[in-house]
Amino acid sequence: MNPETSAAPATERADVDVVVVGAGIAGLYALHRFRRSGLSVRVFEAGAGVGGVWYWNRYPGARCDVESVDYSYSFDEALQQEWDWSEKYATQPEILAYLEHVADRYDLRRDIEFETRVTDIALDEPTLRWRVATDTGRAVTARFVVLATGPLSNANTPAIPGLDTFAGQILHTSHWPHDGVDLTGQRVGVIGTGSSGIQTIPCLAEQADRLHVFQRTANYSVPAGNRPLTPEQRQAQKADYAERRRLSMASGGGSPHQAHPRSALAVSEAELREAYEQRWALGGVLFSKTFPDQLTDRAANDTARRFWEEKVRAVIADPAVADLLIPRDHPIGTKRICTDTNYYQTYNRDNVELVNLRVTPITRVDPVGVHTTDAHYPLDTLVLATGFDAMTGSVSKMNIVGRGGQTLNAAWREGPKTYLGLGMTGFPNLFNLTGPGSPSVLANMVLHSELHVDWVAEAIEFLDGRGAVALEARPDAVADWVRECADRAAGTLMMQANSWYLGANIEGRPRVFMPFVGGFGVYGQIIAEVAAAGYKGFDVLEL
Ligand code: NAP
Repeated sequence: MNPETSAAPATERADVDVVVVGAGIAGLYALHRFRRSGLSVRVFEAGAGVGGVWYWNRYPGARCDVESVDYSYSFDEALQQEWDWSEKYATQPEILAYLEHVADRYDLRRDIEFETRVTDIALDEPTLRWRVATDTGRAVTARFVVLATGPLSNANTPAIPGLDTFAGQILHTSHWPHDGVDLTGQRVGVIGTGSSGIQTIPCLAEQADRLHVFQRTANYSVPAGNRPLTPEQRQAQKADYAERRRLSMASGGGSPHQAHPRSALAVSEAELREAYEQRWALGGVLFSKTFPDQLTDRAANDTARRFWEEKVRAVIADPAVADLLIPRDHPIGTKRICTDTNYYQTYNRDNVELVNLRVTPITRVDPVGVHTTDAHYPLDTLVLATGFDAMTGSVSKMNIVGRGGQTLNAAWREGPKTYLGLGMTGFPNLFNLTGPGSPSVLANMVLHSELHVDWVAEAIEFLDGRGAVALEARPDAVADWVRECADRAAGTLMMQANSWYLGANIEGRPRVFMPFVGGFGVYGQIIAEVAAAGYKGFDVLEL
């Protein structure tokens, strides 16, 4: 195959069977899995290396909030057994080293073009092939296109007046310099207190001479309880992998931990406390799923919120600062709950100041610092921990043109419309991985990526096996799935937060809850049943 050539006439073969966009967790596995099916694959990756989100997000303190043992590929038992995770929650460098190891172990790099951004993906309707063009001038035809661009890959830089006039250093957490940054002795400002800000603020406070945290909305964070893994613990985890994976695949979020069997409102005060204490000690995001009704019943949610507040207030020295750090605008867990190491304790340091932007908003940035309505903060470095244009941001940056010249951006103007998260009407053989309409960020992204890639690989095998050329989501199936996703979200408390799940962090975005909230295990069953029923809801197309 020669991927250098451009669009082929209908009588010729496509340059490759599959183009994969992105060489992060999903893209790497896609390449490996499709090769195993005997398909030719070309991967385009904007970064200079593999890893996706773990390639870019190198800020101090960056680590995963899913346990390392679970946040790893399951497709090869030998890989599971040979890799040693050093800590309960792996750091960014360790996860990146793991993904580089995977790229080398399966000889993946030879089919990846780095520093190459896909700009255009256009359907050639008569042949049902896709023409893919890049910013490096490549033009490749493919039978299938798989978008593995990740839900959190398009940085959000706020439009603050004067930001571009700042003469000091501006850093975004999701594009941290690869050689690291020494902030020793500096006056540093951080805008943003989501997961990224909350992880990095304690590390920056240790380096900086003075740290100003500009907080617009407080978030809930739970201590990660990170610790090194002993050889015995690693051994026990590896011995238990099969069962761990089985439980994870059937679970709500892709990890092997189960919620308490009863409602938070049906247990005694002592049982309630004991359950929360256990989850608190376990550490991390699972706190928001201690009881099964925590995210569906406000009274149940309040029991968790009260416990959380008591724990957090206990470690913050100044009650007035604690008041600012306690969220009041959303139920706990309805935005991605953050995990931290010494976040709240950081505000007890003399060199750290919390600036409440709700009372004194930022008005502008000048060459030497940040102005709020009542003060000027001189800074050497300004850190933007301001998140992402999530879920659809990276897909929308590509000009994707389907049947009749319709663009995906136009089709998604009022919110993403997919069948099972995977397929779109008018875009045959274009598959979107781990995005809107799938559990996406509500699940363990490694296992989710494997689930999606395996489904697509089997769909291609199904088509090839019967001499068909394409799968295309039917309009009624898309409409039903969009409605089902919305109905399921409406039955939870998730609609009560201005979260990026809803696109609420980006001005002008339609307010649509994008992930499927029905649970990872349930979703896995649904897509398996669709496949088993001959890809029910998809048209199977022949030329
Ligand atoms: P985020 O959750 O969207 O947080 C962005 C922060 O920036 C918010 O506090 C937001 O305030 C603030 N902000 C944005 N624009 C602003 C403006 N103009 N002025 C003042 N403040 C502004 O982004 P993130 O922290 O990067 O996290 C995104 C997601 O990535 C997480 O939810 C998580 O899923 C993932 N992540 C995971 C980990 C982990 O595994 N531990 C680490 C990092 C990220 P408002 O809330 O007021 O808009």
